[in-house]
Amino acid sequence: MALLLAASTALAQTHPYLDTRLPVEQRVQDLLNRMTLEEKVGQLTQINVQRLMGRDEWDRGPLNPEWLDRILAKQHVGSLLSGGGAAPQPNTPEAWARMTNDLQRYALTHSRLKIPILYGVDAVHGHNNVIGATMFPHNIGLGATFDTKFPHQIGEVTARALRATGITWNFAPDADMGRDPRWGRFYETWGEDPVLASEMVAANVRGLQGPALGPDSVAATVKHFIGYGSPVGGKDRADARITSAQLRGVHLPPFQAGLTAGAATVMVNSGSVNGVPAHASGELLTNLLRGDLGFRGITVSDWEDVRKLQTVHKVAPTYRDAVRMALAAGVDVSMVPHDAEGFTSAVLDLVKSGDLPAGRVDEAAARVLALKFRLGLFEQPFADAQKASAAVTAGTDLALRAARQSITLLASDGRTLPLGERARRVLVVGERARDPRSQLGGWTIGWQGLPKNEDTRAITILDGMKQVVPKGTQLRYSAGVPGQPDADALVVVVGEPPHAEGEADNPTLALPAADLALLREATASGKPVVAVLLAGRPIVIPDDVRTRLAAFVMAYLPGSEGGRAVADVLYGNTSPSGRLPFTWPMAAAHVPAPYDEPGRSGAPLYAFGHGLSYTTFAYRDLRATRDAVTVTVANTGRVAGSHSVLAFARPQGSTSPARLVTFGRVVLQPGESRVLTLALPLGRLPAPNVSIHVGDLHATTID
Ligand code: BGC
Repeated sequence: MALLLAASTALAQTHPYLDTRLPVEQRVQDLLNRMTLEEKVGQLTQINVQRLMGRDEWDRGPLNPEWLDRILAKQHVGSLLSGGGAAPQPNTPEAWARMTNDLQRYALTHSRLKIPILYGVDAVHGHNNVIGATMFPHNIGLGATFDTKFPHQIGEVTARALRATGITWNFAPDADMGRDPRWGRFYETWGEDPVLASEMVAANVRGLQGPALGPDSVAATVKHFIGYGSPVGGKDRADARITSAQLRGVHLPPFQAGLTAGAATVMVNSGSVNGVPAHASGELLTNLLRGDLGFRGITVSDWEDVRKLQTVHKVAPTYRDAVRMALAAGVDVSMVPHDAEGFTSAVLDLVKSGDLPAGRVDEAAARVLALKFRLGLFEQPFADAQKASAAVTAGTDLALRAARQSITLLASDGRTLPLGERARRVLVVGERARDPRSQLGGWTIGWQGLPKNEDTRAITILDGMKQVVPKGTQLRYSAGVPGQPDADALVVVVGEPPHAEGEADNPTLALPAADLALLREATASGKPVVAVLLAGRPIVIPDDVRTRLAAFVMAYLPGSEGGRAVADVLYGNTSPSGRLPFTWPMAAAHVPAPYDEPGRSGAPLYAFGHGLSYTTFAYRDLRATRDAVTVTVANTGRVAGSHSVLAFARPQGSTSPARLVTFGRVVLQPGESRVLTLALPLGRLPAPNVSIHVGDLHATTID
């Protein structure tokens, strides 16, 4: 041991970049000075593993030697990713750890300067690429909890799971604004409100990265910078037309919050903003991101988006031009992700011919190396495969609590829910009640959701109801609605199939026809019908069906424990407390629907913040200073419940909609009341003199 220590101290003396006592900046500079241009360019290159290895090659055992030699030894590639659910076979936590360790070992052995690689995945609701992992509710559901402890704790659990399988870079959290529910990735957002999204993004970044990056945390990525959530017509990757006021007031705050929380990386919007592809926009990637926001970490492209400047956006006549434009605009790392040689040779050629300053490559490579040092990768490059399984399956109780608090009761006749004495015979209807694919949503094993031939741990709604059904009552299941249902109440589970991108856009916000038919038949039976919706966005259900429902429950995409959470709400073990993180429009034609949208048309069906409970809450004694809002909340009903308090503000005398400025949550027993103090972070008030609204109460700020 003493000998080893002496040897590593000696090495650190001749190679200062290995000396952990030196500041990261100094280690980076020392390492950079030793690197060839080719080695530096490798750090700018990110390559997808599955595509090049091929599943067959994994099955055949050892890593494909030709690929390893080309990518890691010859091209010096600095980071790898498994995009879209590419996984080792078998897809177990241990196999992930072995795979990343094998790749890391190869990279280190073949790197002249022993530079470790980064490995990235999209772990957007837990370590969602691994079979059997705990899958948390998708962000849109977490938004409905109005509770930052969830994204924070979920970030911590996810970071441990990732690191235990050798993943060091998470392409999360999403910091896009959910302004258009027609857009297929709406569910990856935290909803329509910038203050809510900012708080949730910041909490998630803190959870993923810990107090400081190190061997137990991962690099977070706020994505997709910027405007990705507002493509024209809700069509993924279409142009976003945004005024500079919207850009600054609506889209920027979650990014700013994520960066203030320390996010190490930023991913670029795959589309364009006001006609300019974000990947070629120096205005966005340099002036705004580096200049105004002061970002010092890594800017990574989205999937193949450097090439798309030539092939899709057609702003670059050649690939070489595309590479030049992206790097000059401010992209540091290209998620290439297939043709490593094409990218590296273009960068080398650009530098050698003077079309790209060598300093730009140095700057980008330095950022990548700095992250590797901060993550402790030079000292601890390998995952501990023995810890992988426990880490990946941890957090089920957290997932259950998050799902319970997210579920939002949209409408209720006040009699049917919670299911109890009156409903001795309950019939559960619909395949989605026992097929977990919809409740897990996109980015679950497969990119577009759990593939039909795969299985992963999940408690379905039917499983959950079986767990909690009271003795002496009867629970039955049917895929369709029987002619004369012999039941006191029907629980009909409907929703959207899982999706990630592309095919996920839903321009009419319609329910799949078969699901709507189920609801229509169920309501025609004359029995009380509880509709449970598994979807990552508001869905427009025709009035003739919706108005006949006894209750309407929004479950979002509640994850692996979601079925139990739904059952707990249906049977009253938990009083529903989710509040909508978005406005639910009457019709798709009313999009854009957000409550603060100046030109919005039509009254919403359910307003932002809407959500019923099995109990009632009352507010009194509202007071507001520049720093905080104080209000007393009382549970005036008959059961315990938790409740999110939302405080809105508008300049005094203004008629513009009041905007959310702060929020917080209380748990209250029947008859209990509490004084809740909600901080007003600096600059959050729209003007010096504002009026604050909580429920029906108003107050004006006092110093
Ligand atoms: C998505 C990104 C994701 C990347 C890697 C892209 O298609 O837009 O959000 O991080 O793939 O999987």
